[in-house]
Amino acid sequence: MKWRGRRQSGNVEDRRGSSGKGKLIAGGGIIGVIFLIAQFVLSDGDISVLEQLDNVSSPSTESRELTAEEKELGNFTEVVLADTEDIWNKIFAENNMEYREPGLVLFSDAVQTACGGASAASGPFYCPADQKIYMDLTFFEELRRRFGAKGGDYAIAYVMAHEVGHHVQNLLGTASEVRRLQQQSSNVEANELSVSLELQADFYAGVFTSHNRKYLSEGDIEEALSAANAVGDDAIQKRTRGQVNPDSFTHGTSQQRKEWFMKGFRTGDIRQGNTFN
Ligand SMILES: [Zn+2]
Repeated sequence: MKWRGRRQSGNVEDRRGSSGKGKLIAGGGIIGVIFLIAQFVLSDGDISVLEQLDNVSSPSTESRELTAEEKELGNFTEVVLADTEDIWNKIFAENNMEYREPGLVLFSDAVQTACGGASAASGPFYCPADQKIYMDLTFFEELRRRFGAKGGDYAIAYVMAHEVGHHVQNLLGTASEVRRLQQQSSNVEANELSVSLELQADFYAGVFTSHNRKYLSEGDIEEALSAANAVGDDAIQKRTRGQVNPDSFTHGTSQQRKEWFMKGFRTGDIRQGNTFN
C-alpha cells in the first residue's frame, strides 16, 4: 500500500512499550490462560470469548523503547486508520448520517478493555463498549507462520478494515440487533448469525478498499484475500483440530470471507452487503 508521507490518524493509542507482561492475578487466572490458548481464536469480534475471560492483569510499570520496525508498523496503522476515517466519514455523510471515529489501541501481551481483559492470543478485536479496536501486531507474524497467509502490509490493512467494519455495524445498530436475535436462538442459529455479522465486516473491508483504490500497490488484494483465507473457520479448524464442524462456525469459511470481501471491493456500495439472507 502507498502509505508513506500520508495523513496519520490521531486516534491511535500505542501501549506496546508499556503494557508489558501483566501477571494474571484474578478471575480466570491460569485456567483462563489455558482456555485462551486452547481457543486460539484468530480473527476477532469474539466478545463471547472475552466475556469468559475476565482476567485481571496487574498493570506493569516496565516500559521499553520501541524498535524502528515497531515504530514503522505503528505509523502504518495510523495511516490506514486515517484512510478508514476519511472514507467512512464520506460514506456516512452521503447517507445523511454522522460517523464517529473509533479508536485503535496497539498493545503487546495483555490489555484491559471495556469488554474485559484480553491477550495477544485473542487476535485483533473490536470492543463496542469503548468503541476501540485492539491489536497486538505479533498476530500477523503468527498468521503467516502458523496459518500460511502471505503476510504483507495489506493483510494488516484488511484486518483493520474488518474491525472498523464491526464499528460501522455498531453505529448502524446491526450488531445490537444481532445480539438480541442471538439471545432467542439455538446455538446453531446463533452461530449462523455470527457468521453473517463477520461476513458483513469482510464486505465492509472490501467497500473501504474499493474507495481507497488509488493507494493500493500491486499484490495488495492478494494479501487481503490470503489473510481472509487464513482466518476462515474451516482453515482454522483444520489446522487446530484436524477436522471441520460447520455448525460451530462463527466467522464463515475461507471461501465466503474472500467472496464477501471481493463483493465489497467490486461494488463499493454498502447497500450490497446483506449477508443475513
Ligand atoms: Zn470480525
